[in-house]
Amino acid sequence: MSSHDFWDKDVESLDRKPLQALQLQRLRQVVDHAMRTRFYEPRLKKAGIFSSADIRTLDDIQKIPFTTKDDLRECYPNGLLSVPMNRVVRIHTSSGTTGIPTVIHHTQQDLDVWTNLVARSIHATGSGKNDIFQNMMTYGMFTGGLGLHYGAERVGMTVIPMGGGNTKRQLQIMKDFGTTVLHITPSYMLHVLSVMEESGILREELGLKKAYLGAEPYSEDTRRKIERLWQIDVYNSYGLSEMNGPGVAFECIEKSGMHVWEDVYHVDVIDPETQRSLPDGTEGELVFTNLLREATPLLRYRTRDIASFLPTPCACGRSHRRLSRITGRTDDMLIINGVNIYPSQIENVIMRIPEVGNNYQIHLEKTGALDRLIVKVEISSAMFIGDLKQIDNLKELIKDNLKASIIINPSVELHEPGSLPVFEGKAKRVVDNRTRI
Ligand code: ADP
Ligand code: ZN
Repeated sequence: MSSHDFWDKDVESLDRKPLQALQLQRLRQVVDHAMRTRFYEPRLKKAGIFSSADIRTLDDIQKIPFTTKDDLRECYPNGLLSVPMNRVVRIHTSSGTTGIPTVIHHTQQDLDVWTNLVARSIHATGSGKNDIFQNMMTYGMFTGGLGLHYGAERVGMTVIPMGGGNTKRQLQIMKDFGTTVLHITPSYMLHVLSVMEESGILREELGLKKAYLGAEPYSEDTRRKIERLWQIDVYNSYGLSEMNGPGVAFECIEKSGMHVWEDVYHVDVIDPETQRSLPDGTEGELVFTNLLREATPLLRYRTRDIASFLPTPCACGRSHRRLSRITGRTDDMLIINGVNIYPSQIENVIMRIPEVGNNYQIHLEKTGALDRLIVKVEISSAMFIGDLKQIDNLKELIKDNLKASIIINPSVELHEPGSLPVFEGKAKRVVDNRTRI
């Protein structure tokens, strides 16, 4: 590999040993820094850590207590701030998918580190100054918009800061400016396709080559479906506002797992029940420490996201380990008549079926004491004009495949293309009416 293939070759291809030494050095710095916050000082002391001198090896990170989303919520709005407000240059929050949004303050240095990681990620997908980049993630407090924006500028892409929504205009802009790369959620990407089919704009009129898809879970089959229908390469992008936002982990040109930038992030995979560390290759909850945070130090943050580290090195030559697809969040888990199910298991089944269209929804209802699972699925336009017998067969096929995979017997409803609710940011796939009176 030539150095041209890397944004920062020295760091990206650093051997594991020096990479871990760098992590240890930065961990010690961030522990000292966290010690100066009202939140961490008593917690660290209680755990027997009085200064960085108590962190001798990387494994000593295990002594640090976890920080949870609820801790961050209790600190709302400024409780975790560790520098004077006049050094803070930007504030972001999480989307609030599962409750009160968490707040992260950034100094200029924090933003520089983040921007560099996004630039590194974009470069790893082979994009650069010859690309026209249309950012279709929401701008604002949500990190998806501004996060990618500055990294894309840093690699010299031409950035079109569209934000989400206004789909017809998005398509027109894609055509007029010859957009080559998109940043968008997978659910919205599928919707844009439906709108393109109606709009009269043809795929061949667009110069689109790639899309960076993230902010919500999606299956490998959804990736393949989007790649096939759009004739592009799709790269998975993972991030969370607590760890800056996008640019935490990103797929390289190999498109097989997302490199976590380990010079900035220390990651542990734990069993969410026992809280013990798990080896590479085993799925568990991701626990992140940001090793370079100034304004909001966050140590051993329990993300609730479920994934595993791939056990082998990547062919691209980067030494930073790769994460598997995020299969969901621990708090996404649905308990249906006593059976635990993640929404991603349902997506895995339905998106594998070619006649399925671009959207689906999971409904839960209660009939007496029993839970009912209703999976609403849009069918493809080609199928919609087909005959009724075919539609009936498709319904049975979806039902059988779901039953085989999740054990539960669902009801399946087929819907015409474009009829289920559309989300221009993170999709809300599950409608749980069981607790409603
Ligand atoms: P919120 O937790 O309120 O949604 P964020 O806007 O910070 O807040 O979103 C981060 C979360 O989005 C992650 O913790 C994860 O659950 C989800 N996410 C982000 N990227 C991906 C991805 N590529 N695959 C699956 N889930 C993702
Ligand atoms: Zn790679």
